[in-house]
Amino acid sequence: MIPMLGEEEAQAAAEAVRSGWVAQGPRVAKFEQEFATLVGAGHGVAVSSCTTGLHLALVLLGVGPGDEVIVPSLSFIATANAVRYVGATPVFADVELATGNLTVDTIDAVRTPRTRAVIAVHQGGVPFDTVALRKATDDWGIGLVEDAACAAGSTAYGQPAGAGATVAAWSFHPRKVITTGEGGMVTVDDADQAARLRRLREHGMNVSAADRHASKQPVLEAYLETAYNYRMTDIQAAVGLVQLGRLPGLVAQRRELAARYHELLAGIDGLVPVRDPAYGTTNYQSFWVLLDGFPVARDEVLAELAARGVSARRGIMAAHLEPAYADVAPVSLPVTERLTRESLILPLHHALTADDQDYIVGILRELAGR
Ligand SMILES: *Cc1c(COP(=O)(O)O)cnc(C)c1O
Repeated sequence: MIPMLGEEEAQAAAEAVRSGWVAQGPRVAKFEQEFATLVGAGHGVAVSSCTTGLHLALVLLGVGPGDEVIVPSLSFIATANAVRYVGATPVFADVELATGNLTVDTIDAVRTPRTRAVIAVHQGGVPFDTVALRKATDDWGIGLVEDAACAAGSTAYGQPAGAGATVAAWSFHPRKVITTGEGGMVTVDDADQAARLRRLREHGMNVSAADRHASKQPVLEAYLETAYNYRMTDIQAAVGLVQLGRLPGLVAQRRELAARYHELLAGIDGLVPVRDPAYGTTNYQSFWVLLDGFPVARDEVLAELAARGVSARRGIMAAHLEPAYADVAPVSLPVTERLTRESLILPLHHALTADDQDYIVGILRELAGR
């Protein structure tokens, strides 16, 4: 992923520096409001990353030691790690082949009386079935955290993915569609939950540094609970505000490039590219292709592409196959293992040209003929 950063972002960062307000301040507040509006959430609370946002979301829901939290193994490892940060136990569930996402059935298959919450991921930008998962977790009386790290600009049921979530966490890492360098956001609809999140990201303080600064009276803050420093800086938010303006255009361009990949790949047997699910649209943050009866093995395809200057990547990782999770009891995750081992992610970024796509697909066509 090559981030789309221009002179406007450079200017905005410079202005923040010149203003003298570089830590969390007015630009963070503005970024929170504009982002929340964009994704159809009541409140946005900016944080240092999606990972720290997921941590706070679990703290918000009161998840702790003794609790189980169901997560997809097929995700960036931060999803599972967040569960361990609060002392709870991650339980891996399988995903469906077409979307790479948890379903009501895959969650139900590993649910126990200790299940306290689910972290469902809008994987690679492909929305999960928000209506089905929100209803099921509601019926079961367990929490649902939406890992929307990849989902800015994706939609489900005609709304932004993440709109209507109890709590969703977003990422602005440079590998996502829009970036602030590092950075994240937690969105909620409930004002009290937003206030708690603001406190949790700022040492448990009952007054923000910005409010204290704005007050004409001396303000004596109190520290209401043991919390964290997970703040975003105003320099990052300044960049983020410019990036928000680019989001619709970036997503439209990604979807055009994806449509062109679909046309080019249609004529090649054994390649199944990711598509929009019936209930929504993906921002195509990751354009993955499943090898399904392709004559060349995945790693060999990656090596051939690399040898000809194309930096494709392996499919989405599976946390349960990593040493950090070797102590988790063996689970059967056949679809997860198939997707992680037999898919690859093709280059898709704002600077990709039609010629680049022809060249990349030309290599795949040649390999298909072997
Ligand atoms: C990128 C990503 C994260 C982590 O985001 P950071 O902002 O880098 O902490 C978490 N979950 C998923 C699904 C991701 O893709």
